[in-house]
Amino acid sequence: GCGICVHKCPFNAITIVNLPEELEEGCVHRYGVNGFALYRLPVLKEGMVVGILGPNGTGKTTAVRILSGEMIPNLCGSNDSWDNVIRMFRGNELQNYFEKLKEGNIKKVVKPQYVDLIPKVVKGKVRDLLQKADEKGILEKLVEELELSNILDREIQHLSGGELQRVAIAAAMARDADFYFFDEPSSYLDIRQRLKVARAIRKLAEEGKSVMVVEHDLAVLDYLSDIIHIVYGKPGAYGIFSMPKGTRVSINAFLEGYLPEENVRFRPYQIRFTKLSERHSQAGDVLVEYPRLVKDYGSFRLEAEGGELYKGEVVSIVGPNGIGKTTFVKMLAGVEEPTEGKVEWELKVSYKPQYIKADYEGTVYELLSKIDAAKLMSNFYKTELLNPLGIPELYDRAVNDLSGGELQRVAIAACLLRDADLYLLDEPSAYLDVEQRLAVSRAIRHLMEKNEKTALVVEHDVLMIDYISDRIMVFEGEPGKHGRALPPMGMREGMNRFLANVGITFRRDPDTGRPRANKEGSVKDREQKEIGEYYYVS
Ligand code: ADP
Ligand code: ADP
Ligand code: MG
Repeated sequence: GCGICVHKCPFNAITIVNLPEELEEGCVHRYGVNGFALYRLPVLKEGMVVGILGPNGTGKTTAVRILSGEMIPNLCGSNDSWDNVIRMFRGNELQNYFEKLKEGNIKKVVKPQYVDLIPKVVKGKVRDLLQKADEKGILEKLVEELELSNILDREIQHLSGGELQRVAIAAAMARDADFYFFDEPSSYLDIRQRLKVARAIRKLAEEGKSVMVVEHDLAVLDYLSDIIHIVYGKPGAYGIFSMPKGTRVSINAFLEGYLPEENVRFRPYQIRFTKLSERHSQAGDVLVEYPRLVKDYGSFRLEAEGGELYKGEVVSIVGPNGIGKTTFVKMLAGVEEPTEGKVEWELKVSYKPQYIKADYEGTVYELLSKIDAAKLMSNFYKTELLNPLGIPELYDRAVNDLSGGELQRVAIAACLLRDADLYLLDEPSAYLDVEQRLAVSRAIRHLMEKNEKTALVVEHDVLMIDYISDRIMVFEGEPGKHGRALPPMGMREGMNRFLANVGITFRRDPDTGRPRANKEGSVKDREQKEIGEYYYVS
């Protein structure tokens, strides 16, 4: 078993509470007397992308503030000099780095996590912002790589989340620095954009730069990292950077919930991906047959072919941003009237919108108990939904004061607590860290299977899509102009169709079964494209 004492953490997982003695020496920074403590630091390597994988609140940003020279770590005491830091890291790979940092010879650039805050501090046109940042004279190349040409003359204030994200990434890459840090570069982006960004970030490393990335989409993290540090601990209390390992080994260990070198189990269960052939596609009874639906906004038109949904299945909705996924879900939810066709059914529908607002005066407990007080008490819902999503810890909080990730978890719980035949969840993984995404995926799967209900889930995270889906609905067309929704189809056919549009192939990891993106032009990539199998076979 696990060599150290364990206790339950907010996410129903197991975390260490009594730190092993040798770790006390690795205490790098503590906020205040009993505040959050950070143990060890990630390494930085020239010419490499170092990925950081772990829950929110475990010190990732703190580590970056230290490595970027913004903050001298107090070494969990009263230290205020770099010399002591250099002494502590003597013989470590970071010694050299800290020496340079002390001399002021490190220039860093940070792409912040919350890009939606950028318009509050930066005004003006996209072009001006990027020109100011362009120390390397690579603006034109970046504009092409990140597909920014259409928005160059727009005001920052008028950009969508996905556009802000790409502008922020371009601005960071245009700067001439030694150390580049990208905090969650995939938020708001669709799969194609995520992999484009990943490629652009990898290029920085190929130019010899040190790059560090925090990322919660595991397929993207896998694709862009050379090595990965897993961070574990107790969110808000302490965080420990594990030894860096290869990308594949690290992500597999993470899914396993166990770090062999440290002998630490940080989650009581492992995550496994089932073979596509084992999904119970079309096995259940038909829940509903929905008709062809059209929505015409004038400048945008969505045409959705009719289809069938089955009881007990989860269907993922995939496609680029601006293709009409939210519009479709809104029509099924009865929020938006179709221009052609009618949603006439007796079904009870529970809907979690993409953009959630905290417009409720009261606590989380009050909100949820109004939906179904009995379910809050039931062991089934505690085990399958509430505890894994960390909801009980939020019961006394005012809904208006929740952070983005907390609000998302509450909104998902509220949606799944409602009595319904059909559950519609629009981008449930937004604002969630990787541990929470896995917990949400499991909850959706188990609840639909066990209650024989149906869920439609709009999602961009490929591991989540693979984990939860029995079938898949593909949206195609020209973003912002017209979209076409195909009927739900089997995973193999659907993923092939979808990934052919995107131009990316995936293979399956032999140990965990998780999907891994092939590098563009690699042997596997070329072979799979040739035979038209974009998603792994078997
Ligand atoms: P992550 O980036 O992994 O989400 P952070 O490094 O931002 O984690 O924060 C880790 C913990 O440290 C937070 O839960 C917070 O409680 C604490 N913390 C962060 N910044 C400060 C600060 N300036 N003062 C006191 N506590 C802080
Ligand atoms: P997705 O969810 O796939 O990103 P949406 O369904 O949100 O796409 O939007 C598809 C297109 O429809 C976008 O170009 C969007 O600007 C447009 N659109 C969405 N809602 C409205 C509306 N109420 N009026 C006009 N255009 C809209
Ligand atoms: Mg949407």
